[in-house]
Amino acid sequence: MPEEKKTRNENFKSGLPDPDARAPSNDPASPGKGFVSGSAVRAAAFVLLTVLCILAYIRTGTPDQDPFLITDYSRLHPVKVERVVEGREEEQLVKLLEEARAKKLSVSVAGQRHSQGGHTFYKDGIVLDMTPFNRVLSFDPGARTIRVQAGATWKDVQDFVHPYGLAVKTMQSQNIFTVGGSVSINAHGRDIRNGSMISSVESFRLLTADGVIKEVSRTENADLFPYVLGGYGLFGVILDVTLTLAEDEVYRMTTEATRVEAFSTYFKERVKGSPDVRMSIARISVAPEHFLTDMYATLYTADPSLKLSEYNRLVTREYGVLPSKVLFHLNRSSDWGKNLFWALQKNYFSNRQDEIVSRNNAMRSESAFMEYREAGKNDLLQEYFIPVGEFAGFVDRLRSVLLEEDLNLLNITVRYVNRDEEAVLSYAQDDMLALVCLFNTSLSEEAQTRLKAGIRRIIDEVIRSGGTYYLPYAAYPSVEQFRTVYRGTSNFSVKKTRWTPVICL
Ligand SMILES: Cc1cc2nc3c(=O)[nH]c(=O)nc-3n(C[C@H](O)[C@H](O)[C@H](O)COP(=O)(O)OP(=O)(O)OC[C@H]3O[C@@H](n4cnc5c(N)ncnc54)[C@H](O)[C@@H]3O)c2cc1C
Repeated sequence: MPEEKKTRNENFKSGLPDPDARAPSNDPASPGKGFVSGSAVRAAAFVLLTVLCILAYIRTGTPDQDPFLITDYSRLHPVKVERVVEGREEEQLVKLLEEARAKKLSVSVAGQRHSQGGHTFYKDGIVLDMTPFNRVLSFDPGARTIRVQAGATWKDVQDFVHPYGLAVKTMQSQNIFTVGGSVSINAHGRDIRNGSMISSVESFRLLTADGVIKEVSRTENADLFPYVLGGYGLFGVILDVTLTLAEDEVYRMTTEATRVEAFSTYFKERVKGSPDVRMSIARISVAPEHFLTDMYATLYTADPSLKLSEYNRLVTREYGVLPSKVLFHLNRSSDWGKNLFWALQKNYFSNRQDEIVSRNNAMRSESAFMEYREAGKNDLLQEYFIPVGEFAGFVDRLRSVLLEEDLNLLNITVRYVNRDEEAVLSYAQDDMLALVCLFNTSLSEEAQTRLKAGIRRIIDEVIRSGGTYYLPYAAYPSVEQFRTVYRGTSNFSVKKTRWTPVICL
């Protein structure tokens, strides 16, 4: 076994720049020469990095939106709303819906507003901000269940269950999102065993548009369950959710080099086929030097020989945010920046072999370095779910489209999600590899039209591969593409009209 591991790591390193190549010269004929030039290079690099940090700070700390309008993480489509109301008490929410019905106002429900398609606001409507509605209502460590109000974030849940040796089953890669928002989009993350969020939701309470509170589970008001999970707040306000939990565990993190054409087999055999691998995330290079060919995968393998109590102190800070921000900005700004960023990122992960991490820490990954506030521009996500066996074919076609379209693709991560036959608008209509693509774009009308056209070409390839796309992001796909991908759409519309006949929730 150790033999095997060594070979894998060596294979990985062979494709990378040799770290020793940057060591100071030991040439006895020129004592100190290597040291002097090495420190000069380091000093110059430090000055350059500092200047870049300051520039990045100035450029990305500039909000470009009118503070009297509302928008979401995308900063697209800002609109004026009637008002934003903080959700605090059940009675208050019931009254608010009563008022909306009387005045014929639309109500939208908002968590952290990290969705990117204007899901959380309607023009002239009331925005119900659920983030203050965030208490833990009950917890049963023996049964491994927790009931939390919908505005609680994953961080709130993690902080609460962590002392009991428990962890979340399924959530996004980061812990900044609300439970209500995550249920409403049926989120997924790095876990490869527990499927999308729907499988870890036991029940929830829903305040419907007519002011009635319903207990919804697989046995009570069961017909609503698969509509609300992934229902984007269209069936009412989720008040609280009962979630099933997993054990916190100790994982050994390893990173292995792979390639697009080999990835389906690699994933089936090495990742899904290894019973102890619990989570995974892979990355595809967007660097021009190996555009959409080179990959590496990071695996989290359970190691029961290690004691949880020695590794489970929660990480509470993000380190190196500013340098990461600057490097990511280079990735945004030029082809050489992309080549540099890929080489550094791959090298960084290859050097973190065998790092030990608890499940709770693995599920609270960095997010601050991605925050980006450049005026008139933004980084926008799109996500495509491709059946595992179709991965390489899809990426080949994606490469062709991207080479023809003038789009600034910053990053592709690849995760896995089990088939979900329960949610009506299920994106995992098969066992899927999920490709999360981050594009940097101008927010101008012209750039958005170009991006939309490019995305629609990509969606055509997604459809050709038997895949789907994710709905929390900007609505670039056409209505026809939406109907082709989401075959449950007509049932969904009928059900929605039945449940919200008066106001638009
Ligand atoms: C940087 C970034 C990383 C991301 N990573 C992932 C990832 O790893 N995996 C993944 O699956 N997704 C990911 N996403 C998408 C993200 O999970 C969704 O946008 C999610 O909705 C965000 O949660 P939120 O609290 O911001 O919800 P919001 O954006 O506020 O709301 C999302 C939807 O839920 C509805 N809603 C919110 N609260 C309630 C409620 N109490 N009752 C009824 N409806 C409600 C809203 O109306 C809206 O339709 C990512 C997004 C970003 C920007």
